[in-house]
Amino acid sequence: MTSPTWLEHWSDDDGAARVRALFAEAFGSDGVPDGVWSAPGRVNLIGEHTDYNAGLALPVALPHRTYVALRSRDDDVVRLTSAQAPGRTWETDLADVAPGGTQGWGAYVAGVAWALRQAGHEVSGFDAVVDSCVPFGAGLSSSAALECAVAVALDAVHGLGLAADDAGRAALVTACVRAENEIAGAPTGGMDQAASLRCSVGHALLLDCRPGLSALESAGRVPFDLAAVGLTLLVVDTRAEHALVDGQYAERRASCERAAEILGLPSLRDIDPDRLDDALTALGDGPEADVLRRRVRHVVTEIARTEQFAATVRAGRVADVGDLMDASHASLRDDYEVSARELDLVVDSARAAGALGARMTGGGFGGSAIALVRDADVDGVVEAVQAAFDAASLTAPGFLLAPPSAPAH
Ligand code: ADP
Ligand code: MG
Repeated sequence: MTSPTWLEHWSDDDGAARVRALFAEAFGSDGVPDGVWSAPGRVNLIGEHTDYNAGLALPVALPHRTYVALRSRDDDVVRLTSAQAPGRTWETDLADVAPGGTQGWGAYVAGVAWALRQAGHEVSGFDAVVDSCVPFGAGLSSSAALECAVAVALDAVHGLGLAADDAGRAALVTACVRAENEIAGAPTGGMDQAASLRCSVGHALLLDCRPGLSALESAGRVPFDLAAVGLTLLVVDTRAEHALVDGQYAERRASCERAAEILGLPSLRDIDPDRLDDALTALGDGPEADVLRRRVRHVVTEIARTEQFAATVRAGRVADVGDLMDASHASLRDDYEVSARELDLVVDSARAAGALGARMTGGGFGGSAIALVRDADVDGVVEAVQAAFDAASLTAPGFLLAPPSAPAH
């Protein structure tokens, strides 16, 4: 059997040393940044494809982070390099950043400065370098980690004070979401950025995505100290193709909007789960309605499962959430149709090897899956997943441990 590949995280000291060295290399003899900032990737415990339906999600921050060394400039020029995009400097002028007009990975960075300016903050250009141990394009939100690290960096160098409290962080979330949606052109919901900026160590973030909520109302902290109860959250990066910017995600989102429109509701959150059957009937007849019915059923039942998951954890019964994870996966696979062969393989093999529950996480079509595993069973589950990938002649997956970690700082 191939030996499992573990995707380790860096210490903050290690991450900071890497970007300081890279900054000196990129920007020459006066290559000293104003400081170093970082932000985590995230993994969602449950509540998938619910954020853009005004629903609930329950992410935790990963110990894997993206590090940014940044130095403010007197002009509007932005110069960037990334260890993950070697060999080229990405350059723009903030005056040229606009929806539809900014290409490449730098859009995630310059977009944050653009969005802060749109919100009325005075933000100038900057030189910055990036390095990251968040797996890239694995559904673990390397994009939000990048945006949020830049957001807290710009907040600090311009003395905006937003990162100092949760309400300010909610405002930074808004800027990062606008950067991703409007400048990078990826129509994602707000879960990733909220997780990266508003999670806390030992907790999951119960995120309520109904519009118009105050910062306080939009997020609650759910104690999720797995180590204390002898459990491990295992993440498996399937390394299968994952391209959220392509049409599938936008198509699901459009289906949800269409269904809400047919039902005359502002969002699918407004469907009473106890009257789900009535709503499904009201979607009408024909093949299009059948597809919408399955999409709606996923969203409504997933929001209910997320509520139940948080309540179960808050009642001190963490080990009892396995069935909810399994049901979430089935719903995403069968009703929402965003799973992939590799994700199903992780879920099935992990469960067979004793995982309490397992599901795909993130947008789907590849990316990562999670399993909740008793500490004593972790090695067995990892071996089982690896063996299943070997037997199917698939690219070896990457394994991560995900104790709920710190937000952007
Ligand atoms: P993920 O699930 O990892 O967020 P996305 O497709 O949303 O996947 O975002 C990945 C994109 O974000 C990359 O293609 C790149 O444009 C950008 N990105 C993320 N992290 C970095 C980094 N460290 N350096 C350069 N670009 C990055
Ligand atoms: Mg992303």
